[in-house]
Formats: sequence, structure tokens, C-alpha cells
Amino acid sequence: MPEGDTIHRAAHRVGEALVGREIISIETPHPRHGHDRWPERLSGRGVRSVDARGKHLFLRFEGDLTLHSHLRMGGQWSVYRRGERWRRSPRRAWLVIRTPEHEVVQFDGPVLELVTDSRTRFDPQLAGLGPDLLAEDFSEERFLARLREDDQTRPFGDALLDQRNVAGLGNIWRAEACFHAGVDPHRPTREVSNEEALTAIRSVQPLMARSAAGEWPPPNVYRRSGRPCPRCRTAIESGGLGDDNRTIYWCPGCQT
Ligand SMILES: [Zn+2]
Repeated sequence: MPEGDTIHRAAHRVGEALVGREIISIETPHPRHGHDRWPERLSGRGVRSVDARGKHLFLRFEGDLTLHSHLRMGGQWSVYRRGERWRRSPRRAWLVIRTPEHEVVQFDGPVLELVTDSRTRFDPQLAGLGPDLLAEDFSEERFLARLREDDQTRPFGDALLDQRNVAGLGNIWRAEACFHAGVDPHRPTREVSNEEALTAIRSVQPLMARSAAGEWPPPNVYRRSGRPCPRCRTAIESGGLGDDNRTIYWCPGCQT
């Protein structure tokens, strides 16, 4: 699943290709949007800005219209030079925006909607998002408040994945966050101190920022089950965790 750093990186690339550029055409090839008339509604409007919040991406057009996208498990934003071969089938394209130099393509949906700017501020799902770990105004106090409002019997590793607690953290970074804090992800949240919770998110924040800028910091535990822990050499374990049973990775030697 694309995580917040992936979406921030995509927002940066899409923004470079679209903001202030002439928009030649907007197409919505996917049948689900066949009757939405977006090309007509967006015709002649430039893109003002592109921004990300958690795993949501917003293309803000002139005149108060915003395309809101969430990639869920398999979606992707791609930027190609005109004439460059796409790396996914054109049949999987939901949105194609062309400028004189680029084609910006959103593949495999599945959440793509045209809304007003005010709707992006008041939509209950978006308003319920926790503080975005990669936002300049990220608030540790808000994160702790959300975490403590959550079910305190919930495993900490599961609570970190809940976008209402902190937006943008996905399966890779929640595992790495628990590793850096030395916290077993199964530990109930009530037994995790504020200091440990803050250590967890502070440790991955700069790594996610580097990843958003196009670097790939190597993981310590993610997808390394059976391999030695880089801190204590114990074999890393993996298993399903939480309501969604997503796979978590941890070191049973130094994460307690
Ligand atoms: Zn270890």
C-alpha cells in the first residue's frame, strides 16, 4: 500500500508537471467516470497546487474545484514525458492530464472524485484524519491526544496504522517506528509511555521525509523475518496484527 511518503513524493512530481502549466486535455478513460463530464467542468482551468495529506492527494484547480484521490492498495500516480511508454496498461488509467511536456496518469483508482475546496476541509473522513507526519505543522500533542482517545487495549503497532491517530504511516513505517522505539508492536497502547510513542514517530519522520524526496532508507525489520536484528542479532519475526491482520515485523530480542 502506498504510504504517506509515497504520496508526498507523487504530489511533488505531479505538481512540478502541472502547476502553472498549460493543460491541453483531461481525460477520464475509466467507465466509472464516463458520465461525470470532468473534462468539460475542468476545461480551461489551470492547476493551482498539488498537495498531500496522509495518503490523500489533492489536485486543486482554479475556480474552487479539487480532484481528490486515495490510492488504497494498488493505485498509482505517474508522470511521463509526452511520447514516453507507460509502465501500466492504458486500460488501467482512470485519469490522464496532458500538458505540452507531460502526461500525468492516475492508474487503478480506486478513489477519485471532483469536489469543491470547502468539501475537502469538511469531509468527515478527511476531517477525522490525524496529524500528518510529513506536514510542516505536524503536532505531537495532537498525535498523543488522538492516541490516548483510542482504545488503550489495542496493540500499539495496530494503533499506529490507524489514520485517525497519525496520518501517512503505513505498514513499512509502523514496523520501523516500533523497532526504533524498542516497543513490541503487540504491547497494549496503555502500556506504551508518551515518551516511547513520540520516540517511535520521531524516529521515522526524517526517514519518511528522505523517502518522500526520492531516497530509499533500508528497513531494519520490515520484510526481514528470519534475518538477524541489526541491533541484537536475534532473528526477526513476523505475523498478522490487529483488526486487518496486516503483517507486522519485529525483533523479539530488543523490542519488549
Ligand atoms: Zn533486536
